[in-house]
Amino acid sequence: MFYIGCHLSCAKGYVPMAKDAETIGATTFQFFTRNPRGGSARALDEADIAAFLKRREELGLGTLIAHAPYTLNGCSADKKVRDFAWRTMAEDLERLEYIPGVVYNFHPGSHVKQGTETGIRLIAEMLNGILKPEQSTTVLLETMAGKGSEVGGRFEELKEILDRVELSDHMGVCLDTCHVWDGGYDIVGDLDGVLTEFDRIIGLDRLKAVHLNDSMNPLGAHKDRHARIGEGHIGLAAMERVINHPALRNLPFCLETPNELDGYAWEIELLKSKRL
Ligand code: FE
Ligand code: FE
Ligand code: ZN
Repeated sequence: MFYIGCHLSCAKGYVPMAKDAETIGATTFQFFTRNPRGGSARALDEADIAAFLKRREELGLGTLIAHAPYTLNGCSADKKVRDFAWRTMAEDLERLEYIPGVVYNFHPGSHVKQGTETGIRLIAEMLNGILKPEQSTTVLLETMAGKGSEVGGRFEELKEILDRVELSDHMGVCLDTCHVWDGGYDIVGDLDGVLTEFDRIIGLDRLKAVHLNDSMNPLGAHKDRHARIGEGHIGLAAMERVINHPALRNLPFCLETPNELDGYAWEIELLKSKRL
């Protein structure tokens, strides 16, 4: 099964997202757990959730990706920002228990002049403070472009966080094609080499999802500007290799390209046509 989808608006609840997914031919999707710029989450709507769980079965959707808000920074130098990150992640994970089996993806954070080592320590402390043995959600660290003081631009940094989390079975990684490219990993010229490196440092068994984005910038630019599929420096041929690679092809793929629903529908159809 080819699980491909895109980022959808969560503003109206789960059932409307399932409807959008169906309309655009998606077999999975991603959604923000709350406003991406922070703030409080909408009230839990149990009727919407119950109807959605049924719909998810009927449509045979692949693993859904819940995305934490961008403002969540567990390794900020500011205690108030770290407290917000802890509260938000704890609450998000509690709420996601109503939708069993999703993955919860977050940007590890920015250490802002404290250094990568301190950043890694604070992120691991947050995860150790929040993860619960009984949770059904797997928490994913997203590979980052290494912009500014972002933690997670190198596979070694993600591995270091994973090693420090006690409930490590509940942890995984989401590979973002734009981010790794911007981070200096040449998925265009040597996808096999990059995945071999990922396997050697982190382990491919940790890889649980892929964000499919082209990049507006060249290899190693550390910029993080997503482009539509085929319109950036990564290109369509490399994307074809990504969606068909034996180590990746069974993972959920999610587009985060600058598009509205019709643009996503077009990209999903394009990628389906390139699937071997
Ligand atoms: Fe992200
Ligand atoms: Fe991403
Ligand atoms: Zn990005």
